[in-house]
Amino acid sequence: MNVLVLGAGQLARMMALAVKPLNINIRAFDVSSGNVVDPLTSNIIFNDLAQGIEFADFITAEFEHIDHQTLATCQASGKLRPASQAIKVGGDRRLEKSLLTQCAVANAQHKIIETKADFDQALNQLSFPLILKSALAGYDGKGQWRLKDKTTAEEVWLDIKAFFDGGEQGVKHAVIAEQMVPFDREVSLVGVRDSQGNTLVYPLTQNHHSKGVLSVSIATHVNEILQTQAQQVFDSIAKELDYVGVLAIEFFQVGEQLLVNEIAPRVHNSGHWTQQGADTCQFENHLRAVCDLPLGSTELIRPTAMINILGEDSVPNEILNVASTKLHWYGKSKRAGRKMGHINVSGKSEAQLASRLMLLANLLPEAAFDELKPYIAGYQNSLSS
Ligand code: AMP
Repeated sequence: MNVLVLGAGQLARMMALAVKPLNINIRAFDVSSGNVVDPLTSNIIFNDLAQGIEFADFITAEFEHIDHQTLATCQASGKLRPASQAIKVGGDRRLEKSLLTQCAVANAQHKIIETKADFDQALNQLSFPLILKSALAGYDGKGQWRLKDKTTAEEVWLDIKAFFDGGEQGVKHAVIAEQMVPFDREVSLVGVRDSQGNTLVYPLTQNHHSKGVLSVSIATHVNEILQTQAQQVFDSIAKELDYVGVLAIEFFQVGEQLLVNEIAPRVHNSGHWTQQGADTCQFENHLRAVCDLPLGSTELIRPTAMINILGEDSVPNEILNVASTKLHWYGKSKRAGRKMGHINVSGKSEAQLASRLMLLANLLPEAAFDELKPYIAGYQNSLSS
């Protein structure tokens, strides 16, 4: 089976690694060069999209910010899974919010801002503090502003206006103003749906973000009430989109309630732990769904966590002395804050996982993993309380 992935980053690479034993060959469309490449070596296979489409039995995507012409061409081939509409929803917060409303799914109070009048209205209608997020092409904390109160409103508006003006011409830009949610935890659900409408979800994962970017995900046995709530949200969104493949949903947990933060129509960073903590990893399950193969079990086989390596191209070799630790590099060149690789670690129990995480936190350089130690200490405390 041959699959073309739109996007040639680490997610395409991890899909390729996961499904080679199934005899699924992955080629990746590099949207910046327009070439179709081998996702492991970056060697050019074809120099245009048309040949990539011709090669593929199915087409999927590893990210949602893909230009609409490319999506339309792939959709027209009848091979694209999930469908272009689902991919677009992930790339435009306006579409995402209207999907959540359509599915009656709880999320933060918000308002869409396209003009200064909308901005002023949002400031009067919503309660501070606010977070403002660009509707298009904003991710990992980029294209975001925070407002504690009205004192810096004018300054922030000028910045947003400059952001609109500097964006792609001929496109209607917007930001979404959202009330800050006083969450207890951030969690996410990764699940998979096949073309027959069958769904399976992984256990909820608790996530820590640092400067708007995911730094740690921990998957353990979870609260059944929250898991059921998250699964209901997954099922209704996936059904509404007639979704095929892996879909991730990020939530804010407030007490026993989950509010959706955002959805990602693809395999997700908070699901990398599934490579060693779940019966079938998210990358394999995505391709199983896309290629009409039976879905694999999403059961947790042992508590597992993932630590992102951001902006570093080496870590101390000693971390591999910590039992059940695995290192995954993406083969990218070093750049500040860039996702360069990740570390997965498991334990037979949550307590064992927590102590292995602490061993890792003590070995990793504090400058690059600055919030890791206090976060793991907090996780350890939560287990003993
Ligand atoms: P996002 O790009 O929407 O995932 O936002 C990045 C991070 O900013 C999230 O993971 C949260 O830590 C924080 N954040 C975003 N929206 C909100 C909100 N409405 N309330 C509180 N924190 C938020």
